[in-house]
This record gives sequence, C-alpha cells and structure tokens, in this order.
Amino acid sequence: MAIERTFSIIKPDAVRKGVIGGCLAKIEEAGLKIVATKMIHMSQRQAEAFYAVHKKRPFYGELVEFMTSGPVVVSILEGDNAIAKYREVMGATNPAEAKEGTIRKAYGTNIGENAVHGSDAPETAADETGFFFGTAEVHQY
Ligand code: GDP
Repeated sequence: MAIERTFSIIKPDAVRKGVIGGCLAKIEEAGLKIVATKMIHMSQRQAEAFYAVHKKRPFYGELVEFMTSGPVVVSILEGDNAIAKYREVMGATNPAEAKEGTIRKAYGTNIGENAVHGSDAPETAADETGFFFGTAEVHQY
C-alpha cells in the first residue's frame, strides 16, 4: 500500500461540541498521522471557493453559512491508503447512516452538520491541502 496524504476538516459543529480531541483520537487510532494542523475561521470567500464543486446543489448556501459559523480545525493526515482510510473513519455523509465507531456516528448531528470533511481522491487531496497549507507547515516524526 502506498503512503498517501489527505486533507481533513473538523467542522464548526464538532468544534462547538468540544470533540476536537475525540475526532483526532479516532484519526490516530486508525493509524493516520497528523503531520500538520491548525485552527482557522473560514471567510465567506474561502468557504465558497472550497465548496465550489457543490455550487449548483440546493444546500450550497446553507453549507457555506455553516462552514463559516465558527472555527474549524484543518489538518493533513498521512498513512497507508490515507484517503480511503480516512473516509472509512469518517463514516457516511449522513450520520444516521454512519457505521458504529465512525466519527460521524459518534459526533455528527445531521447530514449538513456532520463533524468532519475528508478528501475523496488524490487530486482533491492535493488541491484542498494546497488551499489551506504551505509545504513548510508539514512535519515528519
Ligand atoms: P462528503 O464527501 O461525505 O462530505 O459528502 P458530499 O461531498 O456529498 O457533501 C459535502 C458536504 O455537503 C457534506 O459533508 C455535508 O456537510 C454537506 N451536505 C451534503 N448533503 C447535504 C444536504 O442534503 N443538506 C445539507 N444541508 N448539507 C449537505
């Protein structure tokens, strides 16, 4: 298996609930390494650009409003098969459909406020990482 990197966001609902640590614990328990992380508060412009792929979807406005409603924790995760592995750790988009043990099952509220984001492919992982981090912010240990 190849060592990959993926991009993660702990969304405003999870930050407000006080479960940043809970989310990061599930990430580390899955064998993913946190090689960069920081708390930011996305601007309207950043959130619109980040979710531009969903612009035509009916929930786009709601999504941008939610993602700018409070601070988030953005991270770069590294490990074997990191992209698929993190999607597994996150669970289904709708927390009601997420498997036991996943982050969204444990901490998600509803399909919009679902605790975490994770890239879905190598190209989006690279783009999303570049959007929030410079190469100097990535660490090895
Ligand atoms: P993901 O890859 O599992 O995050 O799911 P998607 O790429 O399909 O959607 C991106 C994000 O848009 C989700 O994580 C949700 O926060 C939000 N979203 C998706 N579907 C809905 C919906 O029906 N209503 C609302 N309000 N938000 C949604």
